[in-house]
Amino acid sequence: MIDNDTAWAAVMRRDRTYDGHFVTGVLTTGIYCRPSCAARHPARENVRFFRDGTEARAVGLRGCKRCLPDDVTRDQKAVAQARALLEGDDPPALAELATAVGYAPQHFARIFRRAEGMTPACFLRSLRLARAQAAMTGGASVTDALYDAGYATSSRFYADSAAIGMTPSA
Ligand SMILES: [Zn+2]
Repeated sequence: MIDNDTAWAAVMRRDRTYDGHFVTGVLTTGIYCRPSCAARHPARENVRFFRDGTEARAVGLRGCKRCLPDDVTRDQKAVAQARALLEGDDPPALAELATAVGYAPQHFARIFRRAEGMTPACFLRSLRLARAQAAMTGGASVTDALYDAGYATSSRFYADSAAIGMTPSA
């Protein structure tokens, strides 16, 4: 368990990297939150920190409906699973990604973006570009590199390159 000052500083910053490391119990409202909860910050004297939701519930607190603190582990697992799928040899269509990890598409897009700082589509795009670049650096022909990187058509690659401000010749 991290110390109270570090925990409180993380709450004040709404630091997402601490989500899943502890929960913030608010004694006056009877709820507990993940550190990054977007709700207005409680007064410090009303706050107690708990290792997880189980500890917070043991003293009678309820999980916040806004930040869903008990979903952190499940969310993190789903994002890791989605990354693995996207990084695999046969990534699912983006429309099927959320379903593949057990989430509704809109909800999962938000979770993924929060965790990775980009949408699944951007993630896949940067992954493909990095692969194509690596293949070309390794001496493969442009055509071979594109297909190996998972581009069905070269126009798709040109569109991705343009999206990151790179010309195909570059
Ligand atoms: Zn909350």
